[in-house]
Amino acid sequence: MPAQSARVLKTVKTHRLEVSKSAPTPKKPQIKMQNGIYVGKEADKLWKLMSDYHKGASRPPIYIRQSKTYGIACGGHAKFIEREIVITVGKDASSSTLLMVIAHELAHIAAPKKYSSADGKYHGAHGERWATCYVKAVRKRFGAEHFTGVRASHGYAVDGYVLRGIVNSRKAELGEAAPVQQW
Ligand SMILES: [Zn+2]
Repeated sequence: MPAQSARVLKTVKTHRLEVSKSAPTPKKPQIKMQNGIYVGKEADKLWKLMSDYHKGASRPPIYIRQSKTYGIACGGHAKFIEREIVITVGKDASSSTLLMVIAHELAHIAAPKKYSSADGKYHGAHGERWATCYVKAVRKRFGAEHFTGVRASHGYAVDGYVLRGIVNSRKAELGEAAPVQQW
């Protein structure tokens, strides 16, 4: 595991883990509810919000593996050659963490690492182009007002900003839905 993501594990309670690249891909894409999330539906919405980057390409399939050892952790891997995403999720992972990982991995496929002749720059896997695609989509999907504080321009630290925003958004949603206490 790179030192950078190990640091994220300590400072942000996402417990994002790297998924082994040699792990076998499950046969069927996830279509049912997983940890409180309809993965396919949520992925469709987020992918649509990344269209400035993928220019209308079809959404890559997402395969979910339920881990017995991950606990509250959730990790993903975007496979560029196969053009598919594999997410490993612990049974106690929060729905917000899973949503974060879905958006993180989709942004890898929508805004892959590349040299761009438009600006003469090389854009890395967790570079600014990926981060902008990722953050723009989640802010539109979950409400920009919930995303507060300064975000990192690139790297795994962007995950902390995204997760806090998603958690705030879902708290606000649940708060509104909760019945008013009668005294
Ligand atoms: Zn990544």
